[in-house]
Amino acid sequence: MEGLPGRLQLPVRAAKTLSLDTQPMLPYNPRMDLDTNLRVLLNEQINHEMSSSYVYLAMSSWFEETPYSGFAQWMYTQSLEETDHAMKFYHFLVDRNAQVNLMAIGQPHAEYASALDVFKASLEQEQKVTSQIHNLYSAAEEARDHETKNFLNWFLDEQVEEEKNVRDMIDRLDLIGENPVGLLQLDQEAARRKPISGGGDAGMA
Ligand code: MG
Repeated sequence: MEGLPGRLQLPVRAAKTLSLDTQPMLPYNPRMDLDTNLRVLLNEQINHEMSSSYVYLAMSSWFEETPYSGFAQWMYTQSLEETDHAMKFYHFLVDRNAQVNLMAIGQPHAEYASALDVFKASLEQEQKVTSQIHNLYSAAEEARDHETKNFLNWFLDEQVEEEKNVRDMIDRLDLIGENPVGLLQLDQEAARRKPISGGGDAGMA
C-alpha cells in the first residue's frame, strides 16, 4: 500500500517471528529454589545478628564507665563482628535473589553487676545464636538446600569459637574474683583482642 504523497513513510513493523531479535523477553523469574521458610529464617537471622551487635555495644558502653577499658574494647570488637555476621546473611540473600526484609532492633539490656555478670550474659547470648543457627541448618536440610548448608558451615564453626572464648573469660573471671590486680591483668589481655575478617580466630591475640 502506498503512503499519501508528501507524508513521511514509516517502515512497516515486521511480523513477529521466533527469531532472537523479535522474541519477547521472558518474564523475570526470580530464583525459586530458596524455600520460603528458609528465606524467612535467614531474614530473621539478619535481625538476630544486628540485635546481638547492639547487645555487645551496650556491654562495651557499660565497661566504658568502669576502669576496664580492655573489656570495653573486647565487647566493641565483638559488636563489630556481629554486624559483620548480619552482613554475611544480607549478602547471601541478595546473592540468592531472595527478598531482604529488615526488621526493628530492640533496646538491649544495659544493667550489669560485674565483669563476670557481663560475660555470663554474653555466653547466654552466644548459646541463643548457636541454637538459631542450628534451626537454620535444620531448615536448610529439610529444604535440601545444599548452598545454604554450605554457607551455614562457617557459622557453626564460628559459634564453637565464640562460646569457647566467652567460657574461657568466665573461667578466668571466676578464678580472679574481686582481685583488682587479676582483673586489670585480664583487662589488658582483653584489649589485645584482634578483630577477625571472614572467619577464623575470634579469640584474644
Ligand atoms: Mg554472630
